[in-house]
Amino acid sequence: MKAPKDQHFLIDTDAVDFIAGSVPIQGRKVLEVGPGGGVLTAALLERGANVRAVELDGTLLPNLEQRFKDELASGQLTITRGDASRVDLPDFDLVIANLPYSISSKITFRLLETGFETAVLMYQWEFAKRMVSPPGDGEYGRLSVMVQTYADVELILKLPPRAFSPPPEVDSAVVKIIPREPPVKILNREVHAVLVRELFSHRRKTIQNGLKGMKSIYGEEIITKLIGSLPKDLTGKRPEKLSILDFIELANRLSDLI
Ligand code: SAM
Repeated sequence: MKAPKDQHFLIDTDAVDFIAGSVPIQGRKVLEVGPGGGVLTAALLERGANVRAVELDGTLLPNLEQRFKDELASGQLTITRGDASRVDLPDFDLVIANLPYSISSKITFRLLETGFETAVLMYQWEFAKRMVSPPGDGEYGRLSVMVQTYADVELILKLPPRAFSPPPEVDSAVVKIIPREPPVKILNREVHAVLVRELFSHRRKTIQNGLKGMKSIYGEEIITKLIGSLPKDLTGKRPEKLSILDFIELANRLSDLI
């Protein structure tokens, strides 16, 4: 099998220590996506974590099996071969990983749906910035809203390409994610997700015009009623100015009308 992309191994040992030490892991079940050569795996095991690793590239397994013979034998480490965005995931409390960047979005939403206590994940810098951007920021968009609706997110470390071998073309960043309930109850999560997706698919349009584009989904009558019920200062804004709460309130009004 051709080696999958995204194999940029972390060689900055301070960064490895920082990531492994960024959350208490002694005796906890930690999911690691893409152990690669095992540099982060070793740091997690040393700190007493029960590591459940998922690695896509089978050619890396013999080395990992050799390096972690004892931990595999004792059950402190398990390794599943497969695509972490698709395989049945082992049971876990925390997620700590230097992610393969091509599955950043898929795996993040999968993990948020599955549920966990805390995740400490390495992303491409631009992706990480979009995750943590506040309303009004040029990078605030669908990803920011969807992640920040369901979690507190914090960018805790920026790393240059030279922290990896081979170096990627872009900077990287570590983000800490702590899931929580949305600030206000969301009546229908699917309606909320569709609304956020549709409004950001035309980010230069005002909310009023963006909503008009949703007539094909929810029907003319419902959208006209929704627009009529909204305050003028909201309908005249662009989606990038709306807060997490604004999107929930908008989605709840729409759910009430459906
Ligand atoms: N954890 C190692 C480190 O920090 O040096 C490797 C990180 S490297 C950026 C990403 C790892 O994820 C590689 O080992 C790669 O083979 C693996 N990988 C790529 N796509 C994957 C997927 N869909 N599911 C699981 N692992 C994947």
